[in-house]
Amino acid sequence: MDIPRIFNITESAHRIHNPITPEKLATLGAALRLESGASVLDLGSGSGEMLCTWARDHGVTGTGIDMSQLFTEQAKLRAVELGVADQVRFIHGDAAGHVSDEKVSVAACLGATWIAGGVAGTIALLARSLLTGGIILIGEPYWRQLPPTDDVAKACLAHSISDFLMLPELLASFGQLGYDVVEMVLADQDGWDRYEAAKWLTMRRWLEANPDDELAKEVRAQLTSEPERYAAYTREYLGWGVFALMPR
Ligand code: SAH
Repeated sequence: MDIPRIFNITESAHRIHNPITPEKLATLGAALRLESGASVLDLGSGSGEMLCTWARDHGVTGTGIDMSQLFTEQAKLRAVELGVADQVRFIHGDAAGHVSDEKVSVAACLGATWIAGGVAGTIALLARSLLTGGIILIGEPYWRQLPPTDDVAKACLAHSISDFLMLPELLASFGQLGYDVVEMVLADQDGWDRYEAAKWLTMRRWLEANPDDELAKEVRAQLTSEPERYAAYTREYLGWGVFALMPR
């Protein structure tokens, strides 16, 4: 079981697989007023940067589940590197339908809400693992500017304009699902650059090391076209944020 190999190639050097920066991840941890010993569940935990740094900085414990074998291995190494291997564990597996045995203080899914069929389904899934008074974290894109056409939305790698909402509508949608939005930390374009532009050097170096790989053509094509596509579309139109929710 694994995610499509192209992501394990293009994001192999990422610690955070989202437009949020280490600084903003720290801002989020502080904003949530995490108490030492609080438990965190992270579905689609990637390379584990959120759990590992929050374990170090706030004394939380946690479990992360991710379908990428590579990212899960990197998360385990990061936990050792930060001295928190006894506080966090990382499981390689499918997070779809995953409910924790013991309820948690924070249940999160940052940038992987397809795991449960979208934002509403993911909130419902996370809610099943949540302690009374706990917080759900959802990391999700929104439109900074509404694309004028579905073609522009597609150039942002969405299927259509209706994939995402504008920020006020996204916030309202959480209310319609019965949740208060109690905090948020939004990415900015510099954060998008860290996520997207970091792929380019990784791709370039991978191409030099793997010229005959079956994915070399695809990676070459992406490296050639991505900077311009990203600057014209994703960087201009897409926002991204983490939203902290508590049931009303
Ligand atoms: N939350 C992490 C990773 C976001 S990228 C971070 O912010 O850094 C999306 C992640 O979802 C990837 O790590 C990918 O491997 C993982 N993923 C995709 N489908 C999954 C599934 N069905 N179950 C668990 N993880 C999945």
